[in-house]
Amino acid sequence: MPKLLPVRQDGDPILRQKAKKISRVDDSLRRLIDDMFHTMYNNETPGIGLAAPQVGVSMRLIVVDMQDEEHEPIALVNPEIVKASKEMVVAAEGCLSVPGMRGDVERHEWVTVKGRDEHGHETRFRAEGWFARCLQHEIDHLDGILYTDKATNVRYADEEQICTEQSERQASGEKVPVAI
Ligand SMILES: [Zn+2]
Repeated sequence: MPKLLPVRQDGDPILRQKAKKISRVDDSLRRLIDDMFHTMYNNETPGIGLAAPQVGVSMRLIVVDMQDEEHEPIALVNPEIVKASKEMVVAAEGCLSVPGMRGDVERHEWVTVKGRDEHGHETRFRAEGWFARCLQHEIDHLDGILYTDKATNVRYADEEQICTEQSERQASGEKVPVAI
């Protein structure tokens, strides 16, 4: 059974460390991946992405599930952005480590990411839109960067507002929760 891991909150020094590169993709890493997905889905505010430092593990590992028809849930080991669009887009982000807040962050419209999957196989793909945003947010976590470092208009957002935002997104066909 996967475990629910405590999510580290802003102020915890582990969120500010540069996470270590992973040399072996083995069963213990795959257990951590399962626990991270479980934690992301079952957190008080469910998220679409989680980075290992957020559960207290300073390693270069992220999980992302856009929860739409277009994208499969993915785990990425040692993810790197190898190419990024010149075009930038601004949108409101949240973070499981900074609960109850929102801020507007400028991100590349698309990125090409490479890394390894949960079996250790090399993978490289191009991501656009919210998927690209989520990957940039999670990879920042591996370098000790929180979205609030880059955001403008950082503001409190209560549960009611978050629910409204989510239903507006769903109504517009964008099935993306805002916490990353
Ligand atoms: Zn985050």
